[in-house]
Amino acid sequence: MLASDYANLQTELEKCEKGGADLIHLDVMDGHFVPNISIGAPVIAAMKKVCTVPFDVHLMISDPYSYIDDFVKAGADIISFHIESDSDTDKTIDKILSAGCKAALAVKPATPVEEVYPYLDRLSMVLVMTVEPGFGGQSFMHSTMPKIRQLREKCPDIDIQVDGGINTDTVSVAGEAGANVFVAGSAVFKSEDPAMMIKTLKTNARR
Ligand code: ZN
Repeated sequence: MLASDYANLQTELEKCEKGGADLIHLDVMDGHFVPNISIGAPVIAAMKKVCTVPFDVHLMISDPYSYIDDFVKAGADIISFHIESDSDTDKTIDKILSAGCKAALAVKPATPVEEVYPYLDRLSMVLVMTVEPGFGGQSFMHSTMPKIRQLREKCPDIDIQVDGGINTDTVSVAGEAGANVFVAGSAVFKSEDPAMMIKTLKTNARR
């Protein structure tokens, strides 16, 4: 939703829902872990009231542990946080799981994917950032693909999500490497036909 029109969130959510999106990806930035500030729990809670697609909340914040309850209450179904954040990784995963949400760990482009290995048995998904977190509209970093291959080899069943620079070409590159959950922002919202774009992205990912 980072690339959506924040003045018309309900309409933008409808585009995703009608277009067949499987998840709504919400980027939360605190101006500290990343330089920008985006939206927080109150906005997500308002969006949740007008959308039935599961909410995938990506916390790009320094202290995710302290805010888990807020995002659970707001309606998160999956919560991703960064292994590079200041919070204790074990405690934060436990807090997410005990609230009944699915937990995911995110890694920046420069972070080795091995860092998530100790936590894999409790994660439903690993988010491999394909751009530096914090800004929409960046170009896909092909250099992150070996991490996806490596993780897919180790974990045939886990969801591997890619986030950043996903378009009709890079979705195939990431899918070939082993990713199976694709975050698309600008590709969908800057498209003249978002529903067709979602369909094309899914087709190209499977290909
Ligand atoms: Zn994200």
